[in-house]
Amino acid sequence: MATLSARATDDSLAKLAGDPACARGLQWIDKSATWVTDQQIRLTEIPAPEFDEARRGEALKELFAANGFQVRTDKTGNVIAERPGSNTKSVILLAAHLDTVFPAGTEISVKRDAGRLLAPGISDNGVGLASLAGLARALAESRVRTTKTIVLVGDVGEEGEGNLRGMRTLMDSYGSRLSAVIAVDGPSTDHVTTQGIASRRFEATVTGPGGHSWSDFGAPNPITAMARGIVLFSSVPMPADPRSSYNFGTIEGGTSVNSIPSRSAVKIDLRSEDDAELAKLEAALREALQAGVKEETSATQSPADALQLNFRSLGTRPAGKLPDDSPLITTIRNVDRYLGNRSRLERSSTDANIPLSMGIPAVALGGGGRGGGSHTLDEWYDPAGRELGLKRLFLTVVSLAGVDR
Ligand SMILES: [Zn+2]
Repeated sequence: MATLSARATDDSLAKLAGDPACARGLQWIDKSATWVTDQQIRLTEIPAPEFDEARRGEALKELFAANGFQVRTDKTGNVIAERPGSNTKSVILLAAHLDTVFPAGTEISVKRDAGRLLAPGISDNGVGLASLAGLARALAESRVRTTKTIVLVGDVGEEGEGNLRGMRTLMDSYGSRLSAVIAVDGPSTDHVTTQGIASRRFEATVTGPGGHSWSDFGAPNPITAMARGIVLFSSVPMPADPRSSYNFGTIEGGTSVNSIPSRSAVKIDLRSEDDAELAKLEAALREALQAGVKEETSATQSPADALQLNFRSLGTRPAGKLPDDSPLITTIRNVDRYLGNRSRLERSSTDANIPLSMGIPAVALGGGGRGGGSHTLDEWYDPAGRELGLKRLFLTVVSLAGVDR
């Protein structure tokens, strides 16, 4: 793997920002926030549910191509734009996920309320995608020549059941050429995500004979069994350190109000800062749901095998952590100091989990502005001050890639 040198110091950053090419890039950012926001609105209004990101990807690809990048779409659906440096063996990769958690048919036209933009997906990850489009344009306007190759990607499969497949494919294609990876996700510039939270996602299903609500009353009920299991697992204490969490995210089953269902299903998300703790939580979850099934069969005096519990994995995210003395953190810290931006190190579950779990230097950063309500229909974004986020990305990427003089 290519290594990063800790070349960026305070002084060198002021020098970098004063380089005529960099100065042109920064000036373009200063006067172009509206252009970036317009791209954000356009991209957000193109639906991109999980596994259906192609149309939004095409629009982003055009924006990359218009700025002189070499563009292609890989077999997974990642939209990849390359800006070769003088040393193409070393790559700085920035990725923003194209997909949203919202199913096809969700109303996603962008509304305005005072300074705010309202639409599902406007922040997560409209802001990441628009920031990459803005970065592509700023790099083109600057005409900066870099040592390392800069790769910008709109990647697929970050949300829900996508299982980070886009980022996994990028690791396969770029492998040892990767010098640093930056996931651009959401708006906030007050953090640097340096630790990836591990997660495991499952669908648990209980099946049984079903029946008529009156004439078969007393038969074991898969919904009741699942409810018992959910209650049992909910009383398992979650450790505060390593911090861990669980969520029963969807529940379904049954066909009508007067039928005993033959099936119930829930989707569960388990997370922890620690992989070993996560394995314990998974074991506790399986045990609790099995105990729920047993309670239901005992309560209804049914044979032990009257209900069946099944588990299906919906994806696994590995944990990973960037060492505190990583040159990548030093570079971002220097950029933040130069821009007067205050930030703290943070943990989250993002595309950066994959490179971090492989020992490749990686972080997740926000694109600028403010937002909230992500993964809800009330999601909002306020672009005021987004220039800061764009400059932060621009200076970080140029600093990492090195100016070729
Ligand atoms: Zn996101």
